[in-house]
Amino acid sequence: MPNQAPISPHVLIFPLPLQGPLNSMLKLAELLCLNHIKITFLNTQHIQERLCNCTNSENYYLSKYPNYFRFQTVPDGLPEENPRTGDQIPNLLESMEAVAAPIFREMVGCGVCGPDSENPVTCIIADGIFTFATDIATEIGVPLLYFDTISPCALWTYLCLPKLIEAGELPFKDDNLDEIITNTPGMEGIIRRRDLPSFCRTNNLNDRIIQLVLKEDKHIPLAQGLIFNTFQELEAPILSQFLNISPNIYAVGPLHAHLKARLVGPEAEPTYSNSIWKEDKSCISWLDSQPLKSVIYVSIGSLAVMTKDQLFEIWHGLVNSGSRFLWVRRPGSVVGSGNSESDEIPLELAQGTKEKGCIVSWAPQEEVLCHPAIGGFLTHSGWNSTLESIVEGKPMICWPYFVDQQVNSRYVGEVWKLGLDMKDTCDRVVVEKMIREVMELRNDEFLERANGMAKLAKASVSEANNLYKCIAHFTNQKHRTRSYE
Ligand code: UDP
Repeated sequence: MPNQAPISPHVLIFPLPLQGPLNSMLKLAELLCLNHIKITFLNTQHIQERLCNCTNSENYYLSKYPNYFRFQTVPDGLPEENPRTGDQIPNLLESMEAVAAPIFREMVGCGVCGPDSENPVTCIIADGIFTFATDIATEIGVPLLYFDTISPCALWTYLCLPKLIEAGELPFKDDNLDEIITNTPGMEGIIRRRDLPSFCRTNNLNDRIIQLVLKEDKHIPLAQGLIFNTFQELEAPILSQFLNISPNIYAVGPLHAHLKARLVGPEAEPTYSNSIWKEDKSCISWLDSQPLKSVIYVSIGSLAVMTKDQLFEIWHGLVNSGSRFLWVRRPGSVVGSGNSESDEIPLELAQGTKEKGCIVSWAPQEEVLCHPAIGGFLTHSGWNSTLESIVEGKPMICWPYFVDQQVNSRYVGEVWKLGLDMKDTCDRVVVEKMIREVMELRNDEFLERANGMAKLAKASVSEANNLYKCIAHFTNQKHRTRSYE
């Protein structure tokens, strides 16, 4: 007879091993711990090593939640010397499926989280792109929730892919990227070809990313539910579209804001970080000496890259705008040689930067964005960065690089009107003009909208409570994933 003692809720969380998903999944994990739910957080060895090298985050979770939090690791299957850059994502996903998935299966089937273990797992929360999780959860009879750490509006375009292909809207018939897309229900009149995820710009529907996304589309409805790091007031029309796809939708974001609210007060911890790059905190003291709302923060996140020509266009635009700027130049984020004759920095850029700029290799971004000196954000429109900016009420200039970012930037510019979309352009004149508009000419207009949305973001906690209840409920009910044909 199996152990008759009551089983406590125990969630295994399996994030995509990249900075953005890691951030949001760790925040969700901590919120679950605060709601007395045990967590096994499954990182790849590569990510865990970088986390330990760059932060005190491992100690933080283990010492703060000794009875609730533990890390486990799996190999990602890539040789250690291989880069884990944006262009390597298909390789990473394929090697995770080949190498990490079987170890994960054993862990939850008969290993440290299995039914006969001291702490049997009662629910799995995995990244939506881990299609192998549906079969594994079905095999062991444990409910699975997919957490898609991109925005619902972006994921919705992924789910519309089969329809777009069937209707002949994909691949594009000509070069007109301004053509309006019609087969994305709920987005009528909003999405142009150029606003679809970057992988749609191909003539080859056998492209690896397209095939991976089409596979994801088939698996998402098989989970017991879908978790999003968003809030109703931001994406209600799109969230309602998902009700036709998945039985339970949990809009639990903005997770970092909810967590911050929970940790405030006498129990608040010293700030900690989940970065897999070493943060340069000197930028905070630099910001302390800048006037209110005078600085534009520039960052393209953890995966996007730019050419040397683009670097100089942005740099000239920043300096010519006359605005103060804090710029994150992640190591390895400038690629190729470009047309610039040499690496020499023109005098006006060197001088402008010395007078008004601060450049770091990685910043404590959440802290930066809530600093009163920051007046705007030139961003690559990654979903975490977008939400972090929304919560702090900072207007954005969006320069999307790939995948979901093209959709996010369209929503920021056209739907939420929280900034400007600079998509597909990188010209010093445009950069200068947009910075002036956001920081000066239309600052009042953008600030009013951004502040309004920030208030709504901070006020939205109800769905998160539903999620905690649901996980506790799963623990007492035998749920199986729906079978996959
Ligand atoms: N980030 C950071 N410091 C930096 C740049 C980025 O801490 O200098 C964090 C940022 O706060 C966000 C994450 O890295 O949480 C990037 O995730 P996002 O989804 O915005 O973009 P991605 O890196 O996945 O493209």
